[in-house]
Amino acid sequence: MKVLVINCGSSSLKYQLFDMDGEKVLAKGLVERIGIEGARIKHTKTGMESVVVETPIPDHKAGIKLVLDALLDKKHGALSSLDELSAVGHRVVHAGEKFAASVRLDGKVMDALKECVPLAPLHNPANIMGIEAVSDALPRVPQVGVFDTAFHQTMPNTAFLYAVPYGYYEKYGVRRYGFHGTSHYYVAHRAAAILGQPIEKLKIVTCHLGNGSSITAVDGGRSVDTSMGFTPLAGVPMGTRCGDIDPALVAFIAETEQLSFKDIDFLLNKKSGMLGLSGVSSDLRDIEEAAERGESRSKLALQVLAYGIKKYIGAYAAAMGGIDAVVFTAGVGENSATIRAMACEGLGFMGIELDDSRNAIRSKEGLISTDSAKVKVLVVPTDEELVIARDTKRLIG
Ligand code: ADP
Repeated sequence: MKVLVINCGSSSLKYQLFDMDGEKVLAKGLVERIGIEGARIKHTKTGMESVVVETPIPDHKAGIKLVLDALLDKKHGALSSLDELSAVGHRVVHAGEKFAASVRLDGKVMDALKECVPLAPLHNPANIMGIEAVSDALPRVPQVGVFDTAFHQTMPNTAFLYAVPYGYYEKYGVRRYGFHGTSHYYVAHRAAAILGQPIEKLKIVTCHLGNGSSITAVDGGRSVDTSMGFTPLAGVPMGTRCGDIDPALVAFIAETEQLSFKDIDFLLNKKSGMLGLSGVSSDLRDIEEAAERGESRSKLALQVLAYGIKKYIGAYAAAMGGIDAVVFTAGVGENSATIRAMACEGLGFMGIELDDSRNAIRSKEGLISTDSAKVKVLVVPTDEELVIARDTKRLIG
């Protein structure tokens, strides 16, 4: 059974073609700069060199056509006919409170996703365009939606409600939703498998640290709290996003700097976080290099990030009444031994202790805590596409 996984952004489209008999990736790629100058597709057939083709790509429909042509290409393709394609699975960012699990896409589900656009005005329209482009190109192929928010729908209202007038929750759906759910779900389950224990018995804190970062408390396999909120701006400091701040800062900056809400939204989403603190870059590799050269603001940025992660680990251990494991994943979590070590430093009192030589691993699954540590700490590379492919296969039957 062959399943195509699609992750549509506003001007980009990532894809992976899976053979679900053996869960092998047959080909993958990225379409970039859709609708703007310099559009291109980078396509890689597993085991072969990547090919890059620059060509005008006016919209997502044209992008999907390019992907299907690449998959059918005699040399670089992985399908001899589109009839081989059993289903398409889409990453969809926001399902509000409408879906707590992946669903097969039909007219009713699409209407529900359109109703969620106000909650994710940048992301959901792009996801919807991708789904509609596939429907046009492959009208008979079933499609499945897998939502970033779904895994967190198990949070209790004590964790998801904000202390603002309750009517805003009822009228506008103002609450914590959380994101990266597919990743938190995947790494929590992998961690349980690596530890050889049933996930139902484990209290795990999963730290997805990338350009965007979120931390989740996973109790018995269910998300019970997560650091991102109504939007993906909340939580630990990120590449360019501020994470948790005093909300009164918004009015203060607006007045003192004479900025509009739109300007402030841009400032907090694009100019803050590790970039804002370090003044160097949003990329953690650059900041680590600058800190090694002795740049004090880069050192400080690393310390603020590590402190933020540490506080969430402590908070979520308290929320769950204990902790058995901490998992690090995504670009920073999988690769930065420095951030992992700094975030876990001083947590020996609660049973968290890293083994320095084990902590040197990168982009590989492994245990990085000492043998005597009560809490197991693991690195688990995330694989959101595989979860989407598996859910798609399961729902198509
Ligand atoms: P996204 O949220 O866009 O999916 P990723 O999960 O790919 O992001 O993470 C990107 C982040 O990972 C960047 O800040 C990058 O610097 C960081 N990163 C990648 N490789 C390393 C590395 N070897 N050491 C430290 N940080 C790394």
